[in-house]
This record gives sequence, structure tokens and C-alpha cells, in this order.
Amino acid sequence: MGEESAGAPTSSTDPRKPSLIAFDMDYTLWPFHADTNPYPPLRLDKDGKIRDRMNAVFAPYPGVGDFLEELHEQGTNLALVSRTEAPPVGKDMIRYLNWTRFFKYQEIYPGKKTTHFHKIRKDSGVEFKDMLFFDDEYRNIRDISALGVTCFYVEEPMSRSLLNKAKIDQLTTLCCNSQSTGSNGPCKITETATKCSKKSNPCEPAKLSAFDELILDGLDRYAVIGELLFQFERRVFTCVVPKCQRFYGYAVRNIDQLIAREDSGLDRAEFRCNLSKLNNKLRPFGYLPYFHSELSCAIINEYGVLARSASEIRAMSTRLENTPFLRRLICATIPSNLLSDVLVLFDCLLYLCDGGKVFCY
Ligand SMILES: [Mg+2]
Repeated sequence: MGEESAGAPTSSTDPRKPSLIAFDMDYTLWPFHADTNPYPPLRLDKDGKIRDRMNAVFAPYPGVGDFLEELHEQGTNLALVSRTEAPPVGKDMIRYLNWTRFFKYQEIYPGKKTTHFHKIRKDSGVEFKDMLFFDDEYRNIRDISALGVTCFYVEEPMSRSLLNKAKIDQLTTLCCNSQSTGSNGPCKITETATKCSKKSNPCEPAKLSAFDELILDGLDRYAVIGELLFQFERRVFTCVVPKCQRFYGYAVRNIDQLIAREDSGLDRAEFRCNLSKLNNKLRPFGYLPYFHSELSCAIINEYGVLARSASEIRAMSTRLENTPFLRRLICATIPSNLLSDVLVLFDCLLYLCDGGKVFCY
């Protein structure tokens, strides 16, 4: 355990949060090796920058401090797991960055990381299956995955987007592992959602009432839910980038890239302002832009959407425009660990429909 204890609670009651998130340090939180790049000792200068003996500046990846602070404020237990040969340098970086308060558990010493993780489990009481781990070295990913920890190989600078994708993957993994007799090892959302689909169906969805089956009338229930999230995405695009007509290749999760492609700086500023206003309007429904946009995209990709034949469109307009039915369909189909977040997206869709039709794109 580190020299100072962070103030976060030891467990979370929110099923959307992993119980503990662990990070490697070098090339995961910052772009250098603590034991080979700086000439120690490090120092914190008055300009707020951390420099070594040769006056070289050392800093974390952009944005890392922000999401660590957010996680800490949400009550997530955080751990540092490093096998650096220079623990004092790593610890000085953490101290000068004012990150000591974030990490309740700090295992920073050479050796195989399984030792570090056994110590964290003993100190925290958190089971391996409830941990997330980020590391840029495959040997560590391989060793720690074998313990049952959900591990993510960091191939690009650590970011909030990667963190949210990992959390979604872990949620779906836990769901499927709890409902199937398959492997307990980590898996990605693509294979997990396939497990949960109608094709292999270890996550058996609940039966619908005869009345609801009549409304569904043979339509693929997964595609109906994918269609709802597609309708949500289209409305977000309409609100944020009303001048754009073609959204191929884009989803809400990467709407920033679409905005960045606009030639006009005025348009880019207007669209970014629209996005910020929309996110603020959706926040009271529990909408977290990074998390829910990743979830929406993942579900659409896995469940698909309804076919766009004329008969389908007629069926949609005559039968499916029924909010209580759609809510019951979601509750009967979506795995329990994802349900509350899919309902957040559904509530956001209804808000954007403003009493009008849901299926209109
Ligand atoms: Mg590393």
C-alpha cells in the first residue's frame, strides 16, 4: 500500500463501476520509462513542471489527470502497479503530479506483477474478477489475465475513451460469465455480445407476454433495440450538426471527428456548442457522453437495426410506436448489468422525440 491512503471507499454499490481499476505507469500513464529516461532526482519547479537533473521536462499523457480525478471523485478504488527498477522516481512523479491522493493502493517494485496483484487483493478485499487493469506490456497482460482480472492492452496513449470502452467490456463480460458455463477469462464486447445474441443464446432473454409478442409480430427483438439506439444517434446528429446530410462512418462516439472535418471554423464552433448544450440537457437522465456513446455504438454493431423495406416501415409506424411496449422489450432482452444504461439511452431518445414518433429516420 502507498505511503498515503487515498480517501475512496473500498467497494462500490453501483453495478456500472468496476470495484478497482489498476494502472501500469510507464507508457500507460506517461510516455517514458521511469528507470531509464529521467536523470534523477526529479524536482517540481515553480512553473508547475517536473524536471530532472538535466532540466528535461516529464509529464503524463494529456487528460490522464482529469479522468483519474473523476474516477476518484466517483469513489472508484484506484491502484498503481509497476515493476519499475526505479521506484523512487516513479513515486516522485506521482507525488509531484499530486496523484498520491487518487491511488489507495501503490505496488511499485520490480518483479512479476502477479505478486503486486495478490497484495492488492489481500489489502483491498476486491476479487480479481472485479478488477480492471491497463498495461502496455503484453507479458503483464498475459500474466494478470490468467488471474481472472479483465485486462486491456494499451497500444495508444491512455485516454478516457479507452477507459470507458474497457468498463463496458467488463460489464458485458461479467454478465455473460454469470449466466453461462463458459470461460471466466476476459473477452471483448464483440464476442460477448455474440454470446448474448439470439444465435447462441446462453443469456436467455425473458419471455414476452402474448400481447407483446403480438406487437412484435415476428420482428427480431434485438434489431428493434438496435434500431432504437440508431434512432437516438440520428437525433443527436440532427441536433448537433444539422447542416450535415451524410453521416456514413460516424457515430455519436466519434462525432468530434465529424465536426473537425468541417471547413468553416464558425461551423465547427457552432457544432461544438450544440454538442455541449445537448450533453447538458441529457445529463439529468444519467447520460454520460463518453460512456453511453460507446455503449450505443457497441449495441448497434452487435444487434443490428431493422430492415428498411416499405413493409417494415409500415409495421413500425402501426405497431411499434408504443413506449410502454418498447420499455418492456428492453427490460426483457438486455442483460441485467447493462439494463440501467440502455434505459438511460431510451429515456434520452424519448426526450429528443419530444412526444413525436420514435421511428422516423
Ligand atoms: Mg509500462
